[in-house]
Amino acid sequence: MEHRRLHLLVFLFVNAIFVSLQSREEVLLDMRSSGGELGWLTLPYENGWEIVQTVVNGSLFYTYSVCNIDAVDQDNWLRTTFIQRRPGATRVSVELRFTVRDCNSFGGASVSCKETFNFFIYETDADVGTNFRKGQFRKVATIAPDEVTRDQVVLVNTETKTVGPLSRKGFYLAFQDMGACVGILSVRVYYKTCPSTVQSLAAFPETVANGLREVEGACVENAMSQSTPRIFCTAEGEWVGPVVHCECFAGYEPVGDLCQECKPGYFKPSVSPELCLVCPDNTRPSAAGATSCECEDGFFRSPSDPPTSPCSAPPSAPRDLIATTLSTDGRLQLSWSSPLVTGDRADLTYSVLCEQCDRASCSPCSEKVHFEPGPADLQDTEVIVCDLDSHLNYTFTVEAHSGVSQYGAARPATSITAALDYTDPPKVTLIHLDDRSPTSLTLSWTLSRRPPAHISHRYELMYRRKDGDGERDVTTYTVLILDKNSVHVNDLTPDTAYLFRVQVLSSQGNPGSYSAEYEFHTSPRAESRVQSPSTMVMGAVAGVAVVLLVVVAVLLLRKRRLRAHRRGGSEDPYFSDQLKPIKTYVDPHMYEDPNIAIQKFVTEIDPNAISKQKVIGVGEFGEVFRGAMKSPARGEVAVAIKTLKPGYSEKQRQDFLSEASIMGQFSHPNIIRLEGVVTKFKHAMIVTEYMENGALDIYLKDRDGEIPTYQLAGMLRGIAAGMKYLSDMNYVHRDLAARNVLVNSDLECKVSDFGLSRVLEDDAEGTYTTRGGKIPIRWTAPEAIAYRKFTSASDVWSFGIVMWEVMAFGERPYWDMSNHEVMKAINEAFRLPAPMDCPSAIYQLMLQCWLHDRSKRPCFTDIVNMLDKLLQSPESLSTIADFDPRVSIRLPSTSGCDGTMFRSVPEWLESIKMSQYNESFARAGVSTMEDVLALRHEDIRNIGVRLPGHMKRIAYSILGLKDECSSLSVFAV
Ligand code: AMP
Repeated sequence: MEHRRLHLLVFLFVNAIFVSLQSREEVLLDMRSSGGELGWLTLPYENGWEIVQTVVNGSLFYTYSVCNIDAVDQDNWLRTTFIQRRPGATRVSVELRFTVRDCNSFGGASVSCKETFNFFIYETDADVGTNFRKGQFRKVATIAPDEVTRDQVVLVNTETKTVGPLSRKGFYLAFQDMGACVGILSVRVYYKTCPSTVQSLAAFPETVANGLREVEGACVENAMSQSTPRIFCTAEGEWVGPVVHCECFAGYEPVGDLCQECKPGYFKPSVSPELCLVCPDNTRPSAAGATSCECEDGFFRSPSDPPTSPCSAPPSAPRDLIATTLSTDGRLQLSWSSPLVTGDRADLTYSVLCEQCDRASCSPCSEKVHFEPGPADLQDTEVIVCDLDSHLNYTFTVEAHSGVSQYGAARPATSITAALDYTDPPKVTLIHLDDRSPTSLTLSWTLSRRPPAHISHRYELMYRRKDGDGERDVTTYTVLILDKNSVHVNDLTPDTAYLFRVQVLSSQGNPGSYSAEYEFHTSPRAESRVQSPSTMVMGAVAGVAVVLLVVVAVLLLRKRRLRAHRRGGSEDPYFSDQLKPIKTYVDPHMYEDPNIAIQKFVTEIDPNAISKQKVIGVGEFGEVFRGAMKSPARGEVAVAIKTLKPGYSEKQRQDFLSEASIMGQFSHPNIIRLEGVVTKFKHAMIVTEYMENGALDIYLKDRDGEIPTYQLAGMLRGIAAGMKYLSDMNYVHRDLAARNVLVNSDLECKVSDFGLSRVLEDDAEGTYTTRGGKIPIRWTAPEAIAYRKFTSASDVWSFGIVMWEVMAFGERPYWDMSNHEVMKAINEAFRLPAPMDCPSAIYQLMLQCWLHDRSKRPCFTDIVNMLDKLLQSPESLSTIADFDPRVSIRLPSTSGCDGTMFRSVPEWLESIKMSQYNESFARAGVSTMEDVLALRHEDIRNIGVRLPGHMKRIAYSILGLKDECSSLSVFAV
């Protein structure tokens, strides 16, 4: 209780600071303002209180005084008139202003002199007139002065006394003098009120201040409160509070002491002290006094949305739904993008529906299928579906939900049909022995998961005798590619242990990992059943196979030993000696089984010794990587690794490896060196030395004009030396071109690209000729194009083109001319012109290589010798070949001898296929053919023609135009 009082007082105090209002005084009696005789009663009528009239500042005042200090037993009364009490005023204040004379100022003459007087009250319901009886009065106080008046200076005292409680209709006040010298200057009787007020939208009536009083009020119009509004009126006439507040109705807001309607476009949803709010997004503007704003067409609020929320559109369907098979068995991840229309809602969620479909129909997924984190209320745009069957197709429907999705016209859903799609094929978990005989084993195996119905796997089974055919360092594996998960292996040795491993190949050809190695034993002969004639035949075949295997193993062993011998007994399998004397190249096709050629010419590398680092190119069969190879003798060396892309056929694999069986026969510093191959493991690879600067054509294009002629000639010498070696081995390359020459960090050039199929398939330059073959026309000698006469002499022609490519820094031979135009020009005896700044001797050598009669062309030995000579006397390179279009191929149109000049610059540019420079010429002010004819070399460059090939083409054409037909001749060979 105490505590509550204290709380209330603190509350009142705090509020008083902010809410108190000025009190008002209601005066019941004011002696000074009566302005005339007061009509107060004195007793005794004579010799007691006397009325005195004084003029102060021109105004007339009445005061009462008495000063009978000499006489004893004084009892002088002064009584006011009847003072009406007002209802509610149960206490009144009486303010007295008076003077009292100092008794000592009378010289001590009077012993009965007093310095106080008494104050009385008499309550009555009626005016008793002059009927004055002392006994009816009750004493309120003895009034003593703070200061007494001693001399001329009058000291006025003021004293206020509160009288009450009063209950009668009125009262009289009386002052009793008992021998003092007193002057009553003023008597004011009043009480205080708290004025009527509106506080916190509640109206409170005027209230007489009467101690601390709780006052009840009422809310203003359009406002309400939960209980009656209350406020406190203090004794001082001040309001404190209120304790209960009023709030404006919905649709109304407080403005001063009123509640006013919300303006149009604004709304207030509830009874609250708040102001109206602007209508939220996607709503129609409201009328005055709105409690909410309606949604615009196509926008909605969910039943749980507050009216203050904007309206939103129903979500559209989730987008880009994709299903990704996870590596963990039976799991798919569905992911999607959020809908185009989300309605900007925070309650957007997704649900996923799963149906499993066979060819005929779809039905809900089995209960086993479950979702992580769940099938509904998904806030993220992904979910994982677990425990799917790998042989079933599923349809997943992802639906977007929000508080307003039910209002959308269409179901916001998107579907996808998916099945588990493992990039990694399943694993073989177990190999079973189903049956056995002395010469055969029947095996089957189980997989880590069931493959989907539409996907067929193939299997690679590898097996070998456990004892390694008696040769410790030779392991002969037999590899079988199978379409089903069982096999019957024949031709085995009786009573012998065999080791089997199986690997699953996916439909895309991706190999999975190998199973563990399983050991099975053929039965001893005694166990065999009576052999049928066919088993006997099979036995015989098996016997031959075993003999063959032994022969192959012995051959391999001998080859190894021979190599070790050549290397002086070194165990390094990565030796690179130059085979001398030159032997003849053996076409791997000579071998019935290409694998034999591989085994014969190529070193098998342990795949663990190789690591791939970066893709550096793409060949016909797959990516080419830079990598490293560890070798016991050389440590780690940089290598290029050509890979066979997944999904190859056996034929492709053999073609791929044929390059290695060709390369493996060569050993020359200008022929790319084969380090070895990986054939017996998952991914077949061809490993060669690494050539840091890559393909020659690109290398030169990137350094146009930067490499000195001498160095270019040196590079040509290297290529020629490599080609000499090949031709000495009777190997015809057929696709010699700068793109098939590789450059190492010492700028040594090495001839590469030896696949058997390369000219047919690999080279993008290869073009089908009318005879059906695919030939890189611009690099190929006419007789090879015409009747497929590929010889070292046709390689010489190609070498001439490579010389031109090198001297022209990788420019495309015959520029943009079509293959047909090239063949026509060549047959008409036109040849490529000398590249810019090309030494005359080198250009002469090119022209020799391009002699139509192949027997007249130099051979590679001649070429190497000629280049050697030039390099030995570098001054021989200083004479630059003529840069003359007459020693030129015929450029399209410019050589037309019909005498017609071009009518416009664009027409001329078009004729030489240089229309892309139309604007550049126009901008440079070259608008007539006369202007064109006046152009010098620098002018063409300044116009913006930067590519050397274009530059030359334009320059030649201009020279040709100048010469006109009359002087145009060709360098006929
Ligand atoms: P290829 O299949 O031989 O035409 O090789 C394709 C591309 O791989 C070539 O154009 C080279 O850019 C790159 N490449 C091939 N072999 C090597 C190598 N030994 N060293 C460096 N880059 C190579």
